Amino acid sequence: MFGVDPFTAEPALGESALILLSECGSLKKGHFVLSRKNPDGTRNHSIEYVDIREVYAYPEKLWALSKLLAQCIHPSVPIDVVVGPARGGNDLSTGVAYWLNQLRFPKAKKDPEDSPIRRAWTNKIEVWVGDPTDEQKEEERFVVADCHAKFVKGKHTLIVDDVTTSGTTNQKVCTAVRNAGGSIVLVATIWNRGGVTSDALGGIPIFSLINRAIPSWPPFVCPPCKDGVPVNTDVGHGKEFLESKKQDLFEIGHVPPGFSGIDQF
Ligand SMILES: [Zn+2]
Repeated sequence: MFGVDPFTAEPALGESALILLSECGSLKKGHFVLSRKNPDGTRNHSIEYVDIREVYAYPEKLWALSKLLAQCIHPSVPIDVVVGPARGGNDLSTGVAYWLNQLRFPKAKKDPEDSPIRRAWTNKIEVWVGDPTDEQKEEERFVVADCHAKFVKGKHTLIVDDVTTSGTTNQKVCTAVRNAGGSIVLVATIWNRGGVTSDALGGIPIFSLINRAIPSWPPFVCPPCKDGVPVNTDVGHGKEFLESKKQDLFEIGHVPPGFSGIDQF
């Protein structure tokens, strides 16, 4: 199952993950406006969109994804505890820890010590950072929950997450684990869509079931826009994009005849 690199997923497992994401509505097809802003203030458009929150409404799909992730982690990687970022990553970490116990300790389980890999919660907190005399800003951080800190201190820790884009959340969870005295052995995610590397995580290996970016374009060169494909307003920033276009049209006085709402763009 494992290639030369023990953290390289079999392509078939990545395909299985994509199917599971599609089945629960997490991987959508259409015409979307993505979240991340370009330097000019615009947001790229795409024909795929990952709404990972949907997975957490489908326990069987989450469990199956957790199993795929656990299957790809080489048995030689020492793991005592699994940690993910609040909120979704906490659920994912439960699944991965469960399957790692099943795979690594397959004998009949009568005692909790027969399944020694633990899962530890994290909490999300907001802190004010910066010079108090200057402008401060609120920043999101993670901490290992006090009730589970004993499972992390001095332990080999696997960090899991669903989708990673910039690696910022992964870095924050790494910090939380280090602050709790844990040693990080691997970051494992379902989808690495930002090309996040081990270097970006300070040398910690990263493994992902799916390793590809979602193709996207600035709005002024977006093929679906040119083809007049309606923008999805249920997810992403489609609604905001259409409202800004409506505003632009009113400002330049080119309101289409019969215009009555954003749905007409
Ligand atoms: Zn577009």
